[in-house]
Amino acid sequence: MRVLVVEDEKKTASFIRKALQAEGFAVDVCGDGGDALAAARATPFDGIVMDIMLPGPDGLSVLRQLRERGDKTPVLLLSARGAVNERVEGLNAGADDYLPKPFVIAELVARVRALGRRAGENKSTVLRVADLTLDTVSRRAERGGKTFDLTAREYRLLEFLMRSTGQICGRMSIIEKVWDYDFDPGTNLVDVYIKRLREKIDDSREPKLLHTVRGIGYVLKGTP
Ligand code: CA
Repeated sequence: MRVLVVEDEKKTASFIRKALQAEGFAVDVCGDGGDALAAARATPFDGIVMDIMLPGPDGLSVLRQLRERGDKTPVLLLSARGAVNERVEGLNAGADDYLPKPFVIAELVARVRALGRRAGENKSTVLRVADLTLDTVSRRAERGGKTFDLTAREYRLLEFLMRSTGQICGRMSIIEKVWDYDFDPGTNLVDVYIKRLREKIDDSREPKLLHTVRGIGYVLKGTP
């Protein structure tokens, strides 16, 4: 489960990140509202933990913008003020849950877990790009009536590319999202996996869906 933490207070952000990572979550952190909107557009998160008080657009306005553009990622709002009106405002803006500060970290972790379950219920289980489909439950891909079994890593790579359809995915962002590395291992890891994926989904089929953007990365798209 991948979680975005949006909090400008570095200590709190790092405290939350460490606690979630210790529980097996993959965690990205943003320090302001603008970055949060960009991150949520670039990456499919399973949940967002967001403080209301942020530089740039505040948590409530980030949340409204997410919902306006159809992003249904479950959001847990944090607020220094446990005021009832703020809680109501947050829920009206489309928050799934609300936790006043100061909070007990175990409670935050439990609530994030609950968000993840909700995300699983809301999400369509089948992703589609042109005639390629990926079932996120059985983890099998199908194209032109042929089904492919994918290794765990191939699955994560294809899911990431399909959820980012039409967007160029840089090698480093692939390494981060698919391998959870925050450093470049300096190998041709990504190329090797892209090649394997191509052999499965694109070989002897038209149109080609998986394209190389020279020097930058890869893009999966159904239209030229
Ligand atoms: Ca804050």
